[in-house]
Amino acid sequence: MKHKFIDMHCDTVSELYYRKRDGKPYSLYENELDIDVKKLQAGGAYVQCFAMFTHLPSVKSAYEYANTLADLYYDELRKNSEYIAPVLTYSDIEKNERDGKISALLTLEEGECCEGSPEKLKHFYDRGARMMNITWNFPNSLGWPNIVDPRNHGVGSDTVHGLTDRGRQIVEYMTQLGMIVDTSHSSDRSFYDVADIVKGPFIASHSNCRSICGHPRNLTDDMIRVLAGHGGVSGLNYCASFISNDETAQITADDFARHVLHFIKVGGEDVVGLGSDFDGISTRRLEIKDPSFMPVLWDRLVKNGLSEDQADKVFYKNVLRVFKEILK
Ligand SMILES: [Zn+2]
Repeated sequence: MKHKFIDMHCDTVSELYYRKRDGKPYSLYENELDIDVKKLQAGGAYVQCFAMFTHLPSVKSAYEYANTLADLYYDELRKNSEYIAPVLTYSDIEKNERDGKISALLTLEEGECCEGSPEKLKHFYDRGARMMNITWNFPNSLGWPNIVDPRNHGVGSDTVHGLTDRGRQIVEYMTQLGMIVDTSHSSDRSFYDVADIVKGPFIASHSNCRSICGHPRNLTDDMIRVLAGHGGVSGLNYCASFISNDETAQITADDFARHVLHFIKVGGEDVVGLGSDFDGISTRRLEIKDPSFMPVLWDRLVKNGLSEDQADKVFYKNVLRVFKEILK
């Protein structure tokens, strides 16, 4: 049986853009990627967040590049307007559901796309962006990431370098605008700096539990408790290396459930949602290969001891609560 879900993170727009740039066919409706409209429909998608991901060393202007991705995002939504429609406010989610459409939310992955400028942040807000993380895997004018790639001066979990003064201003402005502050990819220190500035909920759109899988992109138990204290949510990331320390194991839905159960044990049943990272990760080792497999995950959460209401909280209710509070 299908169960509706909200996915806080995917990189599908980037994949579509690479195909467009290379003169290859591309379509949000049906493709060989992890996410397309047909697979979202098959799985029961309620809201899909689409990240405008910018790889800083590859672009001349992060601002221009993120705008190019947003152009493609809106082009694809227009072509598929019978099935999927953008969300600017919470009430758009309800309207789209009444119209039998999936909701799409534009998010920004790489805070440098606003180039440290409140005006550029406002520009993206006006274009529909409702969520932005501080950094990707590179330090930027807003703050520091937890860098894992040794080529990027790998420092692991960084508890020293946090937000810059500019980063504090931008985070503060995001809360005024009604944008969701996303701490995925942030250094540990940047995470705590965000927690000091944002009074209400913030999120980690695609991060798991570090005490189960020691990747620095995952959250420590203390971070999970702080996030829960803010009424925030972390989205379960399906990436094999964020789920398991075993570099060759097949990753089943039961392995996903272990992280969900740990989130609930440490931070309570309101702190965990979904942040697949589809089209940004390899699904080769995954049982849950694309959104059409989501009913398998719901069943397995219940088999692993979650109540049906808890499974629904993970699938959509927790993130919906944050949307309701911030997307006014
Ligand atoms: Zn990411």
